[in-house]
Amino acid sequence: MPAIDGLPPLRDVIARFELNAKKSLGQNFLLDLNLTQKIARSAGNLEGETVLEVGPGPGGLTRALLANNAAKVVAVERDQRCLPALREIADHYPGRLQIIEGDALDLDFAALAPDEQVKIVANLPYNIGTHLLVSWLLSEPWPPYFSSLTLMFQKEVAQRIVAAPGSGAYGRLSILSGWRTDAKLEFDVPRQAFTPPPKITSSVVHLEPRDNPLPCSAWALSQITQAAFGQRRKMLRQSLKRLGGETLLAACDIDPRRRAETLTIEEFCSLARQL
Ligand code: SAM
Repeated sequence: MPAIDGLPPLRDVIARFELNAKKSLGQNFLLDLNLTQKIARSAGNLEGETVLEVGPGPGGLTRALLANNAAKVVAVERDQRCLPALREIADHYPGRLQIIEGDALDLDFAALAPDEQVKIVANLPYNIGTHLLVSWLLSEPWPPYFSSLTLMFQKEVAQRIVAAPGSGAYGRLSILSGWRTDAKLEFDVPRQAFTPPPKITSSVVHLEPRDNPLPCSAWALSQITQAAFGQRRKMLRQSLKRLGGETLLAACDIDPRRRAETLTIEEFCSLARQL
């Protein structure tokens, strides 16, 4: 496919820099520029925006973000082998791509954001995707330093993020996401779109922070949902025993025989307030 930006095709970049994918780093690269464009567009209008990207790899999504007029992309990559390929992109877009070599798990993302808000966009390595999402959702203060999160996950994780109460996918991720953001499943990405193809389908999710989520402490909600869904088949009086069990449930007027997956986000917030 011809490049939209005058840079060499990604397949050539990968061959030239010998970027054979490493499973340990969750490397499944997107080479289809239509698809990287589609992900960049899911993040909304990028004109004048700063975008934080985790795991740019050879730079497919990075290039789409820059081609879609992001004023600046700050990209954090752990694999040193990818840096020369990323430097070529930085040279092509002078002053607009900052490359940070390091582990996203050790990074203070808020400190990277300029005074105004940033957008976070990433085709996340699967082994750290959920961890990063939870850390972004538990950010303090709220509303946070980011105006949106546009992220690729395994489809099963994406379904958990947007799941409603009562469904099998409903859990801690659904509650933390639904409490503080408006989360939308954008589209699926078939396995074959990646090099090498992962075992399962992926999906892109777009989350926008709510200005006024229901009042409760992020820490308490995190504790309650962890305990409740840690034993999701058990009644709440059992799964929440360590946190006050029946007394806590009675204070919130919640039947102790109910199971975690039947509680609404409002009910979880009221438990967190009691805690
Ligand atoms: N963005 C590229 C794309 O769409 O083709 C690559 C996506 S690939 C699924 C995940 C990328 O995250 C890889 O480039 C990998 O090296 C990088 N990565 C893995 N663990 C990381 C970490 N802890 N911190 C930063 N980058 C990481």
